[in-house]
Amino acid sequence: MTQIPRVLSIAGTDPTGGAGIHADLKSIAANGGYGMAAVTVLVAQNTRGVRATHAPPASFLTSQLDAVSDDVTIDAVKIGMLGDTAIIDAVADWLTRVPPPIVVLDPVMIATSDDRLLDETAEGSLRALVPRVDLVTPNLPELAILLDEPVARDWAHALDQGERLAQDTGTRVLVKGGHLAGMACPDALVGAGEAPFVLDGIRINTPHTHGTGCSMSAALATRLAVHGDWRRALTETKAWLTDSIQSAAELRVGAGHGPINH
Ligand code: PLP
Repeated sequence: MTQIPRVLSIAGTDPTGGAGIHADLKSIAANGGYGMAAVTVLVAQNTRGVRATHAPPASFLTSQLDAVSDDVTIDAVKIGMLGDTAIIDAVADWLTRVPPPIVVLDPVMIATSDDRLLDETAEGSLRALVPRVDLVTPNLPELAILLDEPVARDWAHALDQGERLAQDTGTRVLVKGGHLAGMACPDALVGAGEAPFVLDGIRINTPHTHGTGCSMSAALATRLAVHGDWRRALTETKAWLTDSIQSAAELRVGAGHGPINH
């Protein structure tokens, strides 16, 4: 019997179920994994925006993480919203004590609604976490902040930024074209000293993309744990994500940016 990968999401919440750990759990299940979740920050939000956040003490996150790793063999970890420096430090410390075989970091900073999901003062700590993970999945504004540069103007510029982040950190980077203008929506895996693996995609004209980044990083961590092949994991994830965005309008959840159809 093949072991179903046990995938842990470390992320914030979305009570409307579209982003954060809720999206991650659906995404992990849809991509063939067993989902687990440790909450970093409680977020009072809906499809229109973030109303308030509440972070339990970072030591309580450590208790959650230890409770999982003391009992369950973890095959992959997806890290999402971390919120502040104390939380980043707690996760970094746990990663040192319990090195999981696969760690994917979605460096969540600002939501589509323009609400901040990471303290500005914590950007340096998040940068320092990047070399500690196997794959980082920034959107283009987040990629620019990680490099402390202006946002990429076009796809060639985005690829160049991704390659430089991979060189500087030794970590693979998923460069995502979702924030570019135009009809194309490519994604690429770039690694230090590797030729980029580029997948072309079509842009789907829909406002319902809330939680797309969360869902994609959780799916990639899961697919990677299923068969261990980065390129295949991205190819399968992108096909699944395209279908999930294409059928998002059927859901009719909320009046703002609705969730994708996991
Ligand atoms: N809320 C939480 C808890 C998240 O982790 C994220 C992830 O990026 C978001 C909201 C942002 O959602 P989006 O920008 O896709 O609307």
